[in-house]
Formats: sequence, structure tokens, C-alpha cells
Amino acid sequence: MDGRIEVIEGDITKLQVDAIVNAANSSLLGGGGVDGAIHRAAGPGLLEECRTLGGCQTGDAKLTRGYNLPAKYVIHTVGPVWCGGTRGEEKLLESCYRRSLEIAGANDCRTVAFPAISTGVYGYPMDLAADVAVRTVKSFLKDHDKPRKVYLVCFGQQAFSEFQRALASAV
Ligand code: ADP
Repeated sequence: MDGRIEVIEGDITKLQVDAIVNAANSSLLGGGGVDGAIHRAAGPGLLEECRTLGGCQTGDAKLTRGYNLPAKYVIHTVGPVWCGGTRGEEKLLESCYRRSLEIAGANDCRTVAFPAISTGVYGYPMDLAADVAVRTVKSFLKDHDKPRKVYLVCFGQQAFSEFQRALASAV
């Protein structure tokens, strides 16, 4: 397990991995934040394929090709909107990570990169989101050979230090 999770800082659209995960909204028809950046970098083919998918439920994920991205695939997942933690947000966020990893494994992805799902416009507190991300990815990798390596990609210093703390303190 050691070394199979890495916290890095940077722009997820630049990564040469088998799959990047998109923090999408339930329409899968594009939005701001990391979703906007991924669609801009991938080009119009991505939106065309997304239109065929019929949306996605919160906590679930769907796969497309990566088009002009260096990544082969995009796994679109829909994170929960933070409502104070009383509406099952934690379970839904766990489910985003788990479903994305299941889909990555089923499509033979060796390397997968996640953004900090729900921590932008959806308002999930970064420290809590980092704990959920690290815990869920770790527990998945313990039971599965694929993917081989997971990058948790932080956009900015605050995310980076919270995710590093979460990884260092995870059991
Ligand atoms: P959500 O609606 O799930 O909150 P956002 O896109 O608003 O999604 O934010 C999710 C996280 O993605 C935030 O922490 C944001 O800083 C980060 N982010 C934005 N752009 C990028 C990018 N190009 N690469 C990696 N992470 C990004």
C-alpha cells in the first residue's frame, strides 16, 4: 500500500495519467471550477459525449474518453453540496471516491488523479473532505490491485496542507 497514494499540488488537466476525475454537477453538461477547466482542456468532444450519458446521480460516477487531455479517460463524479453535514454528505463523498475507483479499475486504469471533490462551489470543508478522501482511497486500495497509484491533486496551498495532514495522520 505504501506509496500508492500521493498528495500533489497542481492543475489536474495537465496530468498524464490513465484517468482524471472530474467534480461535475448532475447534468454532466459542464460548469465552473475544475469542471470548466477540464472541458476547456479536453475540447468539445467531451461535452458531446457527456450529452449522451443522461446525467449522473450524486455519489455516482460515469466514464468518458479524455479527448485532447493528456489523460486517456475522464471519470465524472457528482459530489454532495455541503449542508452542514446533516444530509448524508460524508457517505455521498465516500461514494464518489469509491465509485470512481471501481470504474477506474474496471477500465484497467493503473493511475488515477482526483481533485478535492465538493470543496469548491459545493462548500465541503477542506479538512473534513481531505480526511474522507484519504480514508476512502486507502481502504479501497487495500482490497484492490487496480488502480496501482492514486494522486490526490490539490489546487492551492490550503488544500495541499490539509491533504498532507490527512495522509500523514491516516491509520
Ligand atoms: P465542486 O462543485 O465539487 O465543489 P469545484 O470545481 O468548485 O467543484 O472545486 C473542487 C476543487 O477543485 C476545489 O478545491 C478547487 O480549488 C479545485 N480545482 C479547481 N480547478 C482545478 C484544477 N484545474 N485542477 C485541480 N483542482 C482544481
